[in-house]
Amino acid sequence: MSQPQFRTPKGTHDILPEDNQYMTYIKKAVRHRARQAGFKRIDPPIFENRQIFERGIGEHTDIVEKELFVVSGKQSEDKSEFALRPEFTAGICRSYIENGMQQLPQPVELYAIGPCFRHDRPQKGRYRQFHQFDFEIIGIKDPSLDAQLIHVVTKIFEDLQILDRLKLQINNIGTAENRLAYVAALKDFFIGKERNLPDLDRERLTTNPLRLLDSKEEDTQILLKSAPTLDQFLSDESKVYHSTLLEYLTELGIQFQENKSLVRGLDYYTQTVFEFWDSETGAQNAVGGGGRYDALIELLGGKPTPGTGFAGGMERIIWQMKQAGVKAPHKDQVDVFVAQLGPEAKKSCLRLISELREKGVHTVGALGEASLKSQMRLADKFQVRYALLLGKMEVKGGTIILRDMQAGKQKEIKYDKAVSTIIELLGEKNLDTYTLKDRMGESD
Ligand code: AMP
Repeated sequence: MSQPQFRTPKGTHDILPEDNQYMTYIKKAVRHRARQAGFKRIDPPIFENRQIFERGIGEHTDIVEKELFVVSGKQSEDKSEFALRPEFTAGICRSYIENGMQQLPQPVELYAIGPCFRHDRPQKGRYRQFHQFDFEIIGIKDPSLDAQLIHVVTKIFEDLQILDRLKLQINNIGTAENRLAYVAALKDFFIGKERNLPDLDRERLTTNPLRLLDSKEEDTQILLKSAPTLDQFLSDESKVYHSTLLEYLTELGIQFQENKSLVRGLDYYTQTVFEFWDSETGAQNAVGGGGRYDALIELLGGKPTPGTGFAGGMERIIWQMKQAGVKAPHKDQVDVFVAQLGPEAKKSCLRLISELREKGVHTVGALGEASLKSQMRLADKFQVRYALLLGKMEVKGGTIILRDMQAGKQKEIKYDKAVSTIIELLGEKNLDTYTLKDRMGESD
């Protein structure tokens, strides 16, 4: 019986080396811009008590109602108390409370990068495991913080050369009280009109009426044309907050589009909400979004604490970069291939390979038993710049053959000079060395 061919679970994918070059590039931009703006890295666990998401994001949101990846602790238990994180904000706010971060100087600025999980129907750009980078500014409420957050994100998109493919959509959905009043008015408006709504939206009218605003259903949108609008219910405080934020964005040279139907799918937002849309296809290809969540920390059991945040979807950003023809710079090229023949040569080569790598030369050695000729063919396939060949004769003579693969020329040099010759040819500045100082704070 043949073995089954295993595949990645539906909605998941391997991040193969090519895409990892993009991932690394994005992470570098994120870390760099985060450091510039005083954000510190946090890594909340990948799974949390499911109530954190249910309470925080809201029980009647798509993310919780349909997409939460629930996991049980033990195989024998079927109580499912945990869920894989569908996003970062709720977990980071839990951490803020749990670790007493209100004692720190405020605002507390945190960022995170990692996988998130939503049990969505997989389709292009929509996966069950995907990656986000996330920024949170917690502890102070001021439109200048929303503006700074948006500015940091804009800079990252600029670094990744996709900013001109995106449109920033922005709205203010008011305080919790403003929204309560609006939702009541919206429900009133739909009394007697329910049967004209498509099934999903009729259900939303009872569970999460605000979601009607960004409904894709034409019938709903037609009805909404004569419905009360959210901005009629915004308090003066919300209006001033919004107009001040827009002034700050203008001051920072950030282009935006006001979008009165942008509500975002999560319950915890108050006031500012924003998304970066693909300029041509719009909401369905949003590369990221965020907003203010002044009630969330209290909802999770903390003292009332305001916050604002943003999450970017890395797979969608990579897609945008590829569309824009952006190549992720990388350091994955192999510089040297070491080939050998005979047991003595093999031993010397192991040492040589180790020495080259120590010096920062990317070195591959296929130390099998293949002929020198087939090892050379392999070197060609690895697209290396140079090959070093050590056969029985060379071991005896204390020499080694250096082959320039591009020029197709080779010469015999002293074995002891192999490393220094390679370094000279590649140039010191092209060696892949690092000191611990460079690497500090550069976790994955
Ligand atoms: P959200 O807070 O739901 O708007 O998510 C923020 C960003 O994460 C979105 O703009 C997408 O770029 C990305 N994202 C959300 N859900 C998925 C998914 N299922 N697959 C891929 N990317 C996603």
